[in-house]
Amino acid sequence: MSRAAVWRVVLDMPLRRPFDYLPPQDASGKPVRPGVRVRVPFGRQRLIGLVTGEAASSDIAPERLKPILEVLDAEPVLDAAMLALLMWAAEYYHHPLGEVLAAALPKALRLGAPASAMRKVWVVSEEGRAALLSGEPRRAPQQRALLQQLFERKGCSAEELGALGPNARAHLRSLVHRGWVAAIDEPLIPAAVPAQTQAQGFALNAEQHAAVATISASLQSFGAYLLHGITGSGKTEVYLHLVARVLAQGRAALILVPEIGLTPQLVGRFRERFAASLALLHSGLTDGERLDGWRQAFTGHARIVLGTRSAVFAPVRALGLIVVDEEHDASFKQHEGGFRYSARDLAVVRAQRAAVPVVLGSATPAFETLYNAAAGRYQRLSLPRRTAQAQAPRLGLIDLRVNAVQAGISTPSIDAIRRHLNAAGQVLVFLNRRGYAPTLLCTACGWTAACEECDARLTVHQAAGRLRCHHCGADAPLPECCPQCGFALRPVGQGTQRIEEKLEELFPDVPRVRLDRDAVRGRGDIEAAVQRMVSGDARILIGTQMVTKGHDFPNVTLVVVLNADRGLFSTDFRAPERLAQTIVQVAGRAGRGDKPGEVLIQTEFPDHPLLRSLLAAGYDGFARTALIEREQARWPPFSRLAAVRDSAKSAAAALAFLTDARHLARLPPKVRLFGPVPAAMAKRAGRYHAQLLIESSDRGALHRFLDSWVSQIEQLPSSRRVRWALDVDPLELF
Ligand SMILES: [Zn+2]
Ligand SMILES: [Zn+2]
Repeated sequence: MSRAAVWRVVLDMPLRRPFDYLPPQDASGKPVRPGVRVRVPFGRQRLIGLVTGEAASSDIAPERLKPILEVLDAEPVLDAAMLALLMWAAEYYHHPLGEVLAAALPKALRLGAPASAMRKVWVVSEEGRAALLSGEPRRAPQQRALLQQLFERKGCSAEELGALGPNARAHLRSLVHRGWVAAIDEPLIPAAVPAQTQAQGFALNAEQHAAVATISASLQSFGAYLLHGITGSGKTEVYLHLVARVLAQGRAALILVPEIGLTPQLVGRFRERFAASLALLHSGLTDGERLDGWRQAFTGHARIVLGTRSAVFAPVRALGLIVVDEEHDASFKQHEGGFRYSARDLAVVRAQRAAVPVVLGSATPAFETLYNAAAGRYQRLSLPRRTAQAQAPRLGLIDLRVNAVQAGISTPSIDAIRRHLNAAGQVLVFLNRRGYAPTLLCTACGWTAACEECDARLTVHQAAGRLRCHHCGADAPLPECCPQCGFALRPVGQGTQRIEEKLEELFPDVPRVRLDRDAVRGRGDIEAAVQRMVSGDARILIGTQMVTKGHDFPNVTLVVVLNADRGLFSTDFRAPERLAQTIVQVAGRAGRGDKPGEVLIQTEFPDHPLLRSLLAAGYDGFARTALIEREQARWPPFSRLAAVRDSAKSAAAALAFLTDARHLARLPPKVRLFGPVPAAMAKRAGRYHAQLLIESSDRGALHRFLDSWVSQIEQLPSSRRVRWALDVDPLELF
């Protein structure tokens, strides 16, 4: 007997093995199709799983094997290439395959929705055909005509029915009633739109042209390219030209963008340029919209798929190019849940397996990416000039120790704001802290408002009259006096709301707009705020990190960074990298039109070597200095890291599991463990967090160690008292 005895099925659960099932009864003799969804019995439940293969025999006793109830797909929802990529990812991230495969599919598909959109079609039944041949229905010529038409057309949809005569609907009802016509569901496969370039692209400058030429010279093979273009240098135009070439070859492009970067601006530029259908996949979509975007890609209807992190798994037919825009952005890394992948890194692996180019674009590349480029693994293409007349902004430091400060804004900054407003410029004031003030203090007894669930202070939200925790969402009314001694309370420190209040007092006639998570909720709000600045309706923009994400403010001539110091003295070795990225990205908002920009950075440490190198030698010089420090400390990219993180109801339980895990480790040479240690903010949302770090200079050795160790630690009894996850290549350390 050559036919496989069992099919291997993986289910969306944290188990590292597939389950064996007998083939479905109606599929006997048919070959197994890996990547199709099946419905299977599991205990008392019926679950949807994915077939990964078959086997000639099973370790399960034959009488205990159950048959698959139903095969849901005619075509695999995960094709062979995607299945292989996901299996690779499950191994690399040491995560159960069932959960990895589930992460690659929209929720609606995991719940059993058809892979293609379905439509109702009316077709002539066997009885109807016999009736037609025998000349029926003789007394109803219009019904007969309709039956004839349905037979010739091999059916028709509800939308097409109207074209088949004035009373087609009524006649159809009669034909259905007689059993001559029946409704069936068939997959709705939209015709692919021929890809055409609509609008002419902008003329490329020499560097843009060189980048396009280099990458398009090898569109048929893998190559990883770092497109390092300063803000305003026209990276998007390079993407658009490359996509045009890929479409012209009859292939499709996958464009990944950061979570918040998916602005109508970028989508609009793609829609403007190409008539080809564009599918969107991002977290702002409803489940139905997400399914729709996935289906457009799956059916090959969409020739451009544009999406955020999980779109790296989109089923792009005839993939010809992958672009990761703002590749340094932390949102490409999944920080939560079990499967903590990097979409940027998986994009490179996917491109390699598909033998297509991948372009990693950024004004502030991640240090890992710079390192890969320096090592020759990625080819570096630079766009060092701004397009049009835009000049690079001048950067300057303001020493907070020697200048007077009003509510966080120094006198030189206030003077500069006045000067730029008088010269008809616009001003961006950046502070990465929302709310009114980060602390509420009693000046008599020293009491501060702290979150009961977290090791954190509550932020004052003055206008709303609330105290809120930015870590767990706790929310309480603002007390009128100190709960400890009854004295008056004072908000201490600055948030964006307080800055806005101060600027209103200083410049009462200048319209302002604030861009932070309290001021704007949805995507529409962000666009409205951006539009107020672009139209000149507002002239001062106060914002958090949100303003750095790809929005263009062409008339902003001055950027003031209120506090750059938090990133200089952090326990996280990546903090300086993030600080430099933020400063350079915020600075890049200035002077993008034809007016030169000015950037002022307020600091109490104007002599700090990292700030000095950033000002003197730009992002590249900063990266060189910081990478030397990393090499000396053996941090990535000069080593590989993994972290086991856990949380529990008590600090002791959180540490106990990690301590047990450490004891189980049989460390090979070149692999080291650090910890366990409580997280810097140990208590968050009522749970205690801790981590154990695994480091190695040898990636292979690290992964071989994880292979055996992870399956051992998940058997530990203490693992059941915690929530834990393994994070390979973690981006944030506490
Ligand atoms: Zn008090
Ligand atoms: Zn809290």
